[in-house]
Amino acid sequence: MQKLIRCVNCNELFPKSPRHKKQEFCMKEKCRKAYKARWQRQKMKMDPVYKNKQGLCKNKWEKKIHRTGKHIDKKILKKLNEIEFCK
Ligand SMILES: [Zn+2]
Repeated sequence: MQKLIRCVNCNELFPKSPRHKKQEFCMKEKCRKAYKARWQRQKMKMDPVYKNKQGLCKNKWEKKIHRTGKHIDKKILKKLNEIEFCK
């Protein structure tokens, strides 16, 4: 018997897929979108380089990078991990 889990987006029960171990969202279009949006937000928080690739705050990034000589050094990466850069 398939186990039912509750979707964190629409709050409805759905059968858990054996292929997705950490599944929290059902397969509805809107829930898959919500999942992707959450994933992207998390990814951006964790990974400022990814954020940079997404073109967000590009100018701020470029200024920072210029100041330190055209590469992102470890100190800056650490800072960016500590603060929310795009406020
Ligand atoms: Zn759902």
